[in-house]
Amino acid sequence: MSYHRVGKNARKWDRKSVLADEIWMMPRKKQDVLRAIICCPAPYASSMSSLGMWTLFRLIHDHPCFSPERVVSNWPRQSLDGQHRPSKGALFAFSINWEMGFPEMVRILRENGIPLKTQDRRDSDPIVVAGGIAVTMNPYPLLPFCDLIVLGDGEEVVGLIMDRLQDCIGQQRERIWSRLDGVPGTLLAASSSGNNLVNRTENLEEYPTGPGALSPRAELGMSFLLEMSRGCDRGCYFCGVSHWKRPARHRSLQTLRASLPSSLSRDVSVGLIGASAGDHPELKKILHWLHSMGCKLCLPSLRPDQIDGEIAVVLAECGLRSVSLGVEAGSDDMRRRIGKHLTNDIIFHASELLTRSGIKNIKVYLLYGLPGESMEDLDRAVQLLTEIRRIQHSIQGDKAGKLTLSANPFVPKNGTPFSEEKLLPVQDWIERRKRLQKAMAQRGIGFGGESPRWARLQAIFSKGGQELADVFVQMAQGVPGMRALKAMGWKV
Ligand code: SF4
Repeated sequence: MSYHRVGKNARKWDRKSVLADEIWMMPRKKQDVLRAIICCPAPYASSMSSLGMWTLFRLIHDHPCFSPERVVSNWPRQSLDGQHRPSKGALFAFSINWEMGFPEMVRILRENGIPLKTQDRRDSDPIVVAGGIAVTMNPYPLLPFCDLIVLGDGEEVVGLIMDRLQDCIGQQRERIWSRLDGVPGTLLAASSSGNNLVNRTENLEEYPTGPGALSPRAELGMSFLLEMSRGCDRGCYFCGVSHWKRPARHRSLQTLRASLPSSLSRDVSVGLIGASAGDHPELKKILHWLHSMGCKLCLPSLRPDQIDGEIAVVLAECGLRSVSLGVEAGSDDMRRRIGKHLTNDIIFHASELLTRSGIKNIKVYLLYGLPGESMEDLDRAVQLLTEIRRIQHSIQGDKAGKLTLSANPFVPKNGTPFSEEKLLPVQDWIERRKRLQKAMAQRGIGFGGESPRWARLQAIFSKGGQELADVFVQMAQGVPGMRALKAMGWKV
């Protein structure tokens, strides 16, 4: 069982045709070097659209002594690139961006017959390393399964880890651990030693961005992803990215130009990635540059206060049919209470600019179950969506595009001002979700978002410690998460 949703068609994919569809941007590496298996851990479609995975791939690819090979959840027992067994790799490196990746990583280790707990591994087993934003926010649940955990950004530390590993792979594990001891911003599981540093790549300009390969089967389709920004300085109280990846850093237009291959075919779009992409000081120049190149665009969610008339027009000119707005709550007051300084008037103005410029569809992201949230707060969210829908109809008439609400339960993250906030019972989440869903259906507004039970697992994994290890082992054996937690005495 995989903990990611795999699309209906993805279940029928066969490896051979999936690989035949890939278009590579990077030279393939010779095989007579040490093999580093890398994994998201997620199905193929999400892995291919994960810049975290590609950053790790590139860093390993650039090291003279290691060659990266991808493993995805669909085919966990054989690498995509060399068709090797992951258990025979020198290194097994996981890049984990959300908490459901924790049990998935354990499942993939189990599928490969690699002893799950670090202390049970033999010298011939791969060195298991994990990193990524979910691990950085809470490394402890995975500590029993990893030789090393990397906190924060990888650019300045992955090379150092490989330098230390290159001449001791295959030696006694204790010797390898002593070589890894003291790498900045890491936790060494064997000795529970580590430092409280979180690695931060100060200058993104020094590192190229982009995927190693494109595939029409990627979640974001044939998109060349460019990381234009990392981190965010806005400091919304619930946001882990903001609190763990501060300060925001940006890649300049010049670096982005250099990262984009000149020979991209017309059917490839460019995806601009970054939590604070809309705060990029050169955003307008970048959008005009992409437009002048005739590039189609795909974008993450934008803050409504980042949208002005010029941006709305150039987004439409770049062929964007849909824009996602991070709104989070239904009223100015509720937004103030969660540190998101944004008013309804700004949201309506942005919706109007986008719709007038020709953007057909709008998606609104909202959190529910926020600290102190009442049912009236949810009703205000419904009013907000109703007004955006009215704006779409008033401008586009009968040809109005879609409005969709993506409503997700609030999950507290370590290190944020809301880290210690109490969660509502799951049943409460379910009722709030139903209330929103029903109201949207009555107004012809689309509805989606994380299921409450799924989000509850994430909430527990994002705050728990090493006591979760046995839950992950159960889940890796196919036991549903809620049942595994209850069996271990957890109140969910
Ligand atoms: S929610 Fe968005 S705007 Fe707020 S801190 Fe996070 S990334 Fe920044």
